[in-house]
Amino acid sequence: MLEFDVNSSDKSARSGQLTVNGRKAKTPLFMPVATKGAVKTLTSEDLEELGVQAVISNMYHLLMAPGIEVIESAGGLHEFMNWDGVIFTDSGGFQMIRKDFDQDINDERLRFTSGGDEYEMTPRECVKNQWRLGPDVAMCLDHCPPYPADRGELEKSVRRTRKWAERCRREEMNLFGISQGGTVPELRRKSCRDMVDVGFQGYAVGGLSIGEPREEMYQMLEIADDVYPANKPRYLMGLGSPVELLESIERGVDIFDSAYPTRNARHRSVFTKKGRIDIRKSVHKQEYGPIDENCDCPTCKNYSRAYINHLCRAEELSWMRLTTVHNLHFLLELMRRARDAIEEERFEQFKRVFIDDYK
Ligand SMILES: [Zn+2]
Repeated sequence: MLEFDVNSSDKSARSGQLTVNGRKAKTPLFMPVATKGAVKTLTSEDLEELGVQAVISNMYHLLMAPGIEVIESAGGLHEFMNWDGVIFTDSGGFQMIRKDFDQDINDERLRFTSGGDEYEMTPRECVKNQWRLGPDVAMCLDHCPPYPADRGELEKSVRRTRKWAERCRREEMNLFGISQGGTVPELRRKSCRDMVDVGFQGYAVGGLSIGEPREEMYQMLEIADDVYPANKPRYLMGLGSPVELLESIERGVDIFDSAYPTRNARHRSVFTKKGRIDIRKSVHKQEYGPIDENCDCPTCKNYSRAYINHLCRAEELSWMRLTTVHNLHFLLELMRRARDAIEEERFEQFKRVFIDDYK
């Protein structure tokens, strides 16, 4: 059901291909988030034209609306969204455990309220709900502690994450385990080993990129690279800034997801070779060139900075779509170039040149 081939590697960086239910995606792979079954401002045809290979939706959000049964009756998320690329679903654990919910969690189940209603879910139900949505890959329920968390909290989350992983695991499903452990090396290592012990089709690194120093996060990726089996895909959840993506690829990560490019786009922040710029600033008012000279996305091919600046100021809604298209294209292109660099064994140089420019 799920195959993963590493085609080439350059030190720890790998390029490969994920094949799941006949759908293929090349790695390193960036997945935009389709939290509620849509990448904000874009259609599924847009995604296809941009070369998006996979998206990730969120079980918790889809449970709230329109409800699992609505999507199941439609024939699953692929049908419902009219999207034939790869779909991952996240458990929604991160959302359900978030502090603002009236939470009540133990090893058996989590209980929370949302919109005045009470919900209770076991780890197994969490995976079953995901599976009813018909994704290609589902994620284990994990217990993500807040940052910062003390050692005791981290130990508890590692223990609970393993228990939940054992309960989530089902032979017939493509399921990824998720390690926790914060940025404490021995706890992270233990949690990664726990996931390998339980045994999954792929392995994610969770609970990072939530405020910890970057260097500590990179150290955790090196531990995951060391412990996770080389022939399975590794997935770093919730990270999408260009520099961090490249640093993580260098440390053996294959798959990423993040709202970073799309959320930035909706806050007028667009990627360029030389870093992010605020397209609404008056300095762009009479710049008649594209957002990025080197970009061949539909936005840059057809529209100027001046025009998008005007659309922002005039509150013409199409600017959000134009900036989203550009930002997403920018990251997808970065992944394509990273794959080429790995295949040609010049990844480190590629990364250095990109980062020097971008900073
Ligand atoms: Zn562009």
